[in-house]
Amino acid sequence: MKGNLVALAVLGFLGCQVEAAETKPPDKITKTDDQWKQSLSPAQFCIMRQKGTEAPFHNKYDSFFQPGVYQCAACGNQLFSSDSKYDSHTGWPAFFRPVSKDSIKVEKDNSLGMERTEVLCAKCDSHLGHVFLDGPKPGGLHFCINSACLNFIPDPASKTAKK
Ligand code: FE
Repeated sequence: MKGNLVALAVLGFLGCQVEAAETKPPDKITKTDDQWKQSLSPAQFCIMRQKGTEAPFHNKYDSFFQPGVYQCAACGNQLFSSDSKYDSHTGWPAFFRPVSKDSIKVEKDNSLGMERTEVLCAKCDSHLGHVFLDGPKPGGLHFCINSACLNFIPDPASKTAKK
């Protein structure tokens, strides 16, 4: 039930963005597991293709707040902006919205005896993390994302850190 509510909230939220930002769904990328193993690190393959989770706090972008964009580490699809990044104190990078409604997709995840909503890259279907409803207002969404799934591209217009 809780997972359904989160999925509905996310879909509603993303639906609201349709009028604000007209984007088109990215072309899909499909590879075999052997092909993914050649382009991803063992940790990335475990998390992104086998729905694993990295250790909290000891990961690349948890306490990282430089201006720029975060791309999918598997396919380069733009996923999140530093403008939506915040410190959730949970040990993983947190964002309150994706860069566009078409950059990610969500699915119900009933694994590990929990009802959660999984976040995946819309372009390559790689697992990224989960989305919860304890994010900052007004949207209230908390995209809890594994650092290993992200590649940070710094904003060339800004050479100074945000904080
Ligand atoms: Fe991707």
